[in-house]
Amino acid sequence: MGIKDFLDKLNVKKKLNIEKGEWIKCDKCKTLLYSEDLKKNMKICPNCGHTFRMSAKERVDLLLDNVKTYDLFPDIKPVDPINFKDTKKYKDRLKAAQAKTGLKDAIIVANGFIKDREVVIASMDFSFMGGSMGSVVGAKFVRGVEYAIEKKIPFISVASSGGARMQEGILSLMQMAKTSIAINRLNKAGGLYISILTDPTMGGVSASFAFLGDVIIAEPESLIGFAGPRVIEQTIRQKLPEGFQRAEFLLEKGQIDMVVPRPELKDKVYNLVRLLHG
Ligand SMILES: [Zn+2]
Repeated sequence: MGIKDFLDKLNVKKKLNIEKGEWIKCDKCKTLLYSEDLKKNMKICPNCGHTFRMSAKERVDLLLDNVKTYDLFPDIKPVDPINFKDTKKYKDRLKAAQAKTGLKDAIIVANGFIKDREVVIASMDFSFMGGSMGSVVGAKFVRGVEYAIEKKIPFISVASSGGARMQEGILSLMQMAKTSIAINRLNKAGGLYISILTDPTMGGVSASFAFLGDVIIAEPESLIGFAGPRVIEQTIRQKLPEGFQRAEFLLEKGQIDMVVPRPELKDKVYNLVRLLHG
């Protein structure tokens, strides 16, 4: 009897498989969930429907049926333009984030098909330094927009960001103007831009490209805003209304176009592309 049969017999393999993944406690209902099951369920808690954050690549897999490439511009890498250091060197933070995520920076620009429609998707990753926007996020976003203009295909972005990357100083703020100008170019060329806001979409990202979509979609319960609620409350010294800065609140106030649950997102984007992109 081989070792595999032996393990099968003891049912150890199943246990080993479980050990490959990890147990995650749902933030909302506190149920213990096995990470592999959660992945198969679009990272939605099967018990209470709470949506967990997705990586940039998981987003691409969620939205595209056929991925041609996960990253059109894999060679654009971050540098440390102002030699920044706080409690850690920026260079070391970058290295740690790269090792943790397998990404070069907080965005990938994928290309592929939703059913029969070719699109470009700029997808952000919150687990890379809080999805902060520095020079690389700006540069890759703009290259993605240019690619969409050239190929005459829709451009989609998935925001997941705490804001600008302060470790790059003023260069990170410049990305707000740079990405906004690119969207303006796409608009003038008659292109379509669908912006998807996920939890969280804050700071410089919400104050630039995320809110420039021809259609702005948010995932349920996502935190979306500029400054955080605590900062605002301290500044205006007033209690904020319930649900403030959540997707549903923004929809009610007319700041976004629709709130779409994750399982319906791909079909919704596809229908918008068919309706609005000839
Ligand atoms: Zn739950």
